[in-house]
Amino acid sequence: MVDAGDDLIVIPPRPSALQKLLRMLALLAGIVWALPLTLVGLLLALPVVACRGEVRLVRSGRVPALLFSGRAADYMLERHPFGAMCAMAIGHVVIAERSSLTRRILTHELAHVRQAACWGILFPFVYLGASAWAMLRGQDAYWNNVFEIAARKAERHA
Ligand SMILES: [Zn+2]
Repeated sequence: MVDAGDDLIVIPPRPSALQKLLRMLALLAGIVWALPLTLVGLLLALPVVACRGEVRLVRSGRVPALLFSGRAADYMLERHPFGAMCAMAIGHVVIAERSSLTRRILTHELAHVRQAACWGILFPFVYLGASAWAMLRGQDAYWNNVFEIAARKAERHA
């Protein structure tokens, strides 16, 4: 429901069965399209589960992700080859540090999950391409990467 001012209240139309079906198919297509990345993410998350870590289902809108956290996740993220980080998303998998996971960080990572659902197996390549593009313009490969900019923008709505 949207308050359009004064006494006028606009009620958005309910989605039709066809719209619901198309949304469900788009969601499934995103999951399948990102599946190779998700499988890599699940492989990386295996030690988290093996060390009695926690697994939770989280969502960004309709897009689901598995959130892994625990001792092994903390260890992995603190020693990440690209530098210590609070969390990372690989396909529909998010691996997060226990002590620093906030709603804002989760929102950021779920933005990357949505990006992976959109770009699928191409995502790592377009992400690196965006970093290369930023560097070619004399900017920072991480901070000026368009995917990171979009994820930081999503954080503001956390
Ligand atoms: Zn990010």
